[in-house]
Order: sequence, then structure tokens, then C-alpha cells
Amino acid sequence: MISIQGLHKSFGELEVLKGMNLEIPKGKVVVLIGPSGSGKTTFLRCLNVLETPTKGRVKISEKTLNFDQKTNKREVASFRRLTGMVFQNYNLFPHKTALENVIEGPVIVKGESASKAKEKGRILLEKVGLGDKVDFYPSQLSGGQQQRVGIARALAMEPEVMLFDEPTSALDPELVGDVLKVMKDLAEEGMTMVVVTHEMRFAKDVADEVIFMDQGVIVERGAPSEFFANPKQERTRRFLNVLE
Ligand code: ADP
Repeated sequence: MISIQGLHKSFGELEVLKGMNLEIPKGKVVVLIGPSGSGKTTFLRCLNVLETPTKGRVKISEKTLNFDQKTNKREVASFRRLTGMVFQNYNLFPHKTALENVIEGPVIVKGESASKAKEKGRILLEKVGLGDKVDFYPSQLSGGQQQRVGIARALAMEPEVMLFDEPTSALDPELVGDVLKVMKDLAEEGMTMVVVTHEMRFAKDVADEVIFMDQGVIVERGAPSEFFANPKQERTRRFLNVLE
């Protein structure tokens, strides 16, 4: 489903991703953990081509982008639509209601009619538990509710893969559960997901595979039961110890 080969990303002299290789089968949930600055966000942004990788290939479904060559804008735009991104700080349009936020992509990018997009948007907002908040503005919603709008907005583009960049880390603790529940439901429906998070409970309960990244490389990976009970690398053990 997703195949990443030799993915590199540098910002000037700073090499942030140093050759990532990863295969993610359809319907699987991968949780990415690692210390701050290890390149997790950059990796997600490369999958969504919000950052242009310096080198390497990314294949999602049947589409491949090869960053060893120059890519063209149209290719990148159609590739980007394969993934839906959920950001740490929601990134909602403040002057648009929940429903208007959700229909923006389908109407502007996909050219759907507003009425059809609204019909689907209401269903998605219902699905994330916000059926009664469709006409609310972001400032009238809690952080957890805003993030659930963010998830509905990403789903509205009907992506093949959902990418979550620390979706709960800006939330007050009592609001985290509702967001994680929506993500867990999505996983159970068979959505392919890549999730950067510090929520180890979520990783243990929902991930098919946990990946530990440090300094731009994958240090260790495994099924959560094995990964948490019996980490093999010293660096992984140190990281997990600090979390406890
Ligand atoms: P993580 O998500 O694991 O905390 P990031 O991917 O955010 O790590 O960052 C990895 C490194 O890349 C950091 O040293 C960060 O400062 C650097 N970095 C990220 N984005 C940029 C950018 N746009 N320009 C320059 N450096 C960046």
C-alpha cells in the first residue's frame, strides 16, 4: 500500500531524514515515536509532500513519486490527495464554520457541488461526534472538538491514508480521549494510518506496528506487544524508560 525507499530530507546543511525505508500494508496502523527533533514530523510532511524530499521514492496505492528526479506540480498535487493530514494545532480556518471547514477541500480542490459536499460533510461531522456543532466556528469549540473537525476535514477528501502529527499533544488531558476514540474507530474501520504520538496507551491498543525513530533513521520496529515488552536496542530502552 505504502512503500518508502531511501527517503532523505535535508534543510540546508542539516540532514533530518537519512534514508528511511518502510512498507505499510493497506489497513494497518503504524505509530511513530521518538525523541523531539528526530524527524517524525518531517517524515509525515514528506509523505504528504508538504516538504519535498531531497532523495528517495514514495509509493502510495499505485502512484509513485521519485524524488531522485524533478517532479512536476500536477503529479505532486494528485499524489497529495492520496493522504489526509491532521495537524497538532488543527489548522482550521477561523472564519469558517465546522461544516465550511470540512467542505472547503471537496469544493475547491475536487470541484464537488456545495450541496453534495455539505451532505457528506454533515455525515462526517456526525461520525466524529459533532453532528450538533456543524454551524459553530472554531473559537466556539473546545480543542478536542476542533481537532475532530480537523479529522473530518481530512476524511472529506477521501484519502487512502490518514497521517496524524501529534493530534492530541495540544489538548487538555480530559479532551484527549474523545480524539483518540475517533482515531481508534477509524482504525477499526480499516483505514491505513500513520500516527506520530506520545500516547503510548494508543500505540499499545491500536498500532499494528510501532516504529522508533532517532536522528533521522528507524532504530527499531515491531508489534506493540513485543516492542514495549522487549525492546532490543539500547536507544529504544532509554527512550521508553524516560517516558515511564
Ligand atoms: P520531530 O517531529 O521528531 O520533533 P522534526 O521533523 O520536527 O522532528 O524536526 C527534525 C529536525 O529538522 C529538527 O532539528 C528541526 O529543527 C529541523 N527542521 C524541521 N523543519 C525545518 C525547516 N522547515 N527548516 C529547517 N529545519 C527544520
